Amino acid sequence: MGGAWAARKSANQDGVSTRLPSTAIAAMQRINPERIRAHVRFLSHDLLEGRGTGARGGDIAAEYMATQFELAGLKPAGDNGTYMQRVPMVGVTPEPQTTFSFVPNKGAALNLKPLEQYVAYDETQQPHSEVDAPIVFVGYGIDAPEYKWDDYKGVDVRGKVLLMLVNEPPSDDPQFFKGRALTYYGRWTYKYEEAVRKGAVGAILIHQTEMASYPWEVVRNSNSGEKSFLKLENAPVLKVASWINFDSARALSEMAGLDLAQMLNNARSRDFHPVEMPVKLKAHMVSKVRSFASNNVIAMLPGSDKRLKAEAVLYTAHYDHLGIRPDMPGDNIYNGARDNATGCGIILEVARAYSDALQRPARSILFAAVTAEEQGLLGSEYLGKHPPIPAGKISLDLNFDDVPPLGAPEEVEVSGAERTTFYSVVTVMAKTFRLAIRPDARPEAGHYYRSDHFSLARVGIPSFSINEGLKYKGHDIEWGQTQADEYTAKHYHQPSDEYSPDMDFLGDAVIARFGFALGWMAATQLKEVGWVKGDEFEAARVKSAGE
Ligand SMILES: [Zn+2]
Repeated sequence: MGGAWAARKSANQDGVSTRLPSTAIAAMQRINPERIRAHVRFLSHDLLEGRGTGARGGDIAAEYMATQFELAGLKPAGDNGTYMQRVPMVGVTPEPQTTFSFVPNKGAALNLKPLEQYVAYDETQQPHSEVDAPIVFVGYGIDAPEYKWDDYKGVDVRGKVLLMLVNEPPSDDPQFFKGRALTYYGRWTYKYEEAVRKGAVGAILIHQTEMASYPWEVVRNSNSGEKSFLKLENAPVLKVASWINFDSARALSEMAGLDLAQMLNNARSRDFHPVEMPVKLKAHMVSKVRSFASNNVIAMLPGSDKRLKAEAVLYTAHYDHLGIRPDMPGDNIYNGARDNATGCGIILEVARAYSDALQRPARSILFAAVTAEEQGLLGSEYLGKHPPIPAGKISLDLNFDDVPPLGAPEEVEVSGAERTTFYSVVTVMAKTFRLAIRPDARPEAGHYYRSDHFSLARVGIPSFSINEGLKYKGHDIEWGQTQADEYTAKHYHQPSDEYSPDMDFLGDAVIARFGFALGWMAATQLKEVGWVKGDEFEAARVKSAGE
């Protein structure tokens, strides 16, 4: 990396300088791929049993991260002067006694079959809930003032069950829900949250393969058995958070004397108005509720400036993975070497570099190894709700997740960075590192909303993940694509995502150095990083600044 870094005196025509002080460069250059390897080898060892959330192996991984932060000389920034921030969670399993029926004003009820026709969770974290309420079709269920789109039109839906479509109204116009790219309004999590904000007791999402971009099997598999949630903190939630398959949606519309195709069509219009159906959802929700806890591991390096040290730059990586499956024959340990021992190794090396530097940046630097990412970004969600420094004072979050050990990258992915006022620094820094920026190949898939940085963005912190692209030194793009496809098909979330001595961690070190350099710039520059005007997270930033 030394060679590429020699071109460090870099400034573009806009006068954006990415020049680091020599002490920072010296510290950065000591970031060592072999040390990242050592962390990955340990964290993905069979003895850690796949680092399951709430399991012994996960807790050992957390202790390891805390110990490494301590050895690097960082201060604890968790609960009560420790490195640990306790994350209380509950596991909810729907029981077979649960019933879910459509009951028309006239005629026979329709009882849906679990998993085959519907999936549903009770978010109240209680063993029993009853719902007997009219169903209101609310189209896409979106209320987005910035796109002048409101599916509710002021209709009172309190106490009702909302039937809605996933995704967002289709358009190629970049000014309208960002064109083909998915905004948060299209994600199923938004639909549930908006239903709660409107005072509904339940939500039913209609599954359509082409709209959701995944088949019913995916919905079914990720909504069967125990599902984890953060322990409720007095927030209202849904008694029924559910999906139905397309055939059941058709049956429901026929029961109401409506035409499903026509309903879907009407939903595409700005003039859409909610339709109360002459059908009720009658649901008897029975759940097994289990409380457990895990920890985020948080460490801090105080800044050098008397005033700015109250602000911070944050680095995150999840340490949890899928654990072990005792009932599975053969190798049943989900070691998670790439996902995400690599990200952990990277933030540990970044932490060491900051700590070793002879000079400190003005702002403080926070490191958080978060838990329960694989359970739905729960550890980072808790961190966002309970940050060690107020969210409005955290300038930037840089996240690392699943960074391939494939050698020297010539491309970097920073999707979401373009949403922030920091992007000019990112582009110039990438040039300095001789890394081309690879754009998001599938913005319609909404990847930005599926990784830990998103939990921080939601509370207003400008956030993005840093990863390698597809082009590696000595190989063409096709080679990189083949590696990526093979990983997805054969190893992603499989027991075979394990450590091997022939892994090459040079790329992980390059990503760590790039992340270090960006974080240093953000921690030193006069102004805090913000969102580009009009970005969907701008409002959250304004709100957190006032708190
Ligand atoms: Zn991951």
